[in-house]
Amino acid sequence: MWDIIIIGGGPAGLSAALYASRAGYQTLLLEGAFSGGQAGQTSRIDNYPGFADGISGEELACAFEAQAKRFGAKLKKSKVLSLSLQGSEKLIKTRKEELSCKALILCMGASPRKLGIPGEDSFHGMGVSYCATCDGAFFKGQSVLVVGGGETAVHDALYLAQLKCDVHLIHRRDELRAVRSMREKLEANPCVTLHWDTIPLEFLGEGKLECVKLQNVKTGETSALPVSAAFVAVGTTPASALAEGIAKTDSGEIITDARMRTNVEGVFAAGDVRDTKFRQVVTAAADGALAANEAILFLASQK
Ligand code: NAP
Repeated sequence: MWDIIIIGGGPAGLSAALYASRAGYQTLLLEGAFSGGQAGQTSRIDNYPGFADGISGEELACAFEAQAKRFGAKLKKSKVLSLSLQGSEKLIKTRKEELSCKALILCMGASPRKLGIPGEDSFHGMGVSYCATCDGAFFKGQSVLVVGGGETAVHDALYLAQLKCDVHLIHRRDELRAVRSMREKLEANPCVTLHWDTIPLEFLGEGKLECVKLQNVKTGETSALPVSAAFVAVGTTPASALAEGIAKTDSGEIITDARMRTNVEGVFAAGDVRDTKFRQVVTAAADGALAANEAILFLASQK
């Protein structure tokens, strides 16, 4: 039986793994195909302290991972299928094995929210994407759409502009949610056209995305914008489906106290999967450290 198992290899999980293993506890981290979570797929992270010139999400994730491994944390790529959390021994069923631990830290993060419009599913992978950093290079120099007005949408638009794309960003309001410095960068970029008060109604094409039907929400007017790709960046939903029996908000975020404790003894949650307002790499990493510390205190109290 492991002392501590962590599910999720984003900044929260990797930081928890670092703190737990450095404190001398047998720590296993289970992660999906890629390390670093959403941050690992971000082209540039400019606001993680310690990197004056910014750092790519991939580099930062690799550094987090190397640091956790240095203190003995074991990292495994493994899909978790279900959890059994009632007893003092927490059981984790993966595709290949059943694992157990004394304390469990849930760091599954969040996944991109869908628009729920016609064509979104059928053109997914054929022009519709939820990750500009992953798929943007396929559309170098072409006309592309970005949907959303938050940090992710602005980052995506700037990244695509760097790829010499003709970028159209549509936002359902006339003011971006992203911070002012990012807004200014976007507005100054000649490769980006902003369409305010605009929503997508339908993705259209023959075999691949060719056009997006748009609507101005103020005038009701519809139009068709020819694009090769559409990058949807309209927020995220917490990846908390596994956490059955754990208290969650109506939108599925795991509820914790300020010490990252869930309503189940010995189970903690950290990062974007939990009910938190400010979702940044630095706050996820801090959550992970707190959760690991609480797990350590919990294990000590059980001796
Ligand atoms: P977000 O902040 O929730 O923004 C989502 C955007 O999508 C909002 O502008 C929202 O419009 C729009 N939207 C939501 N549903 C929509 C729909 N059905 N149709 C059209 N538009 C819709 O999400 P995010 O940008 O992914 O960011 C998530 C969190 O990660 C935030 O806390 C953000 O600060 C953080 N983040 C930070 C960085 C960074 O600092 N480097 C980078 C990326 C993300 P409204 O504005 O009208 O609600």
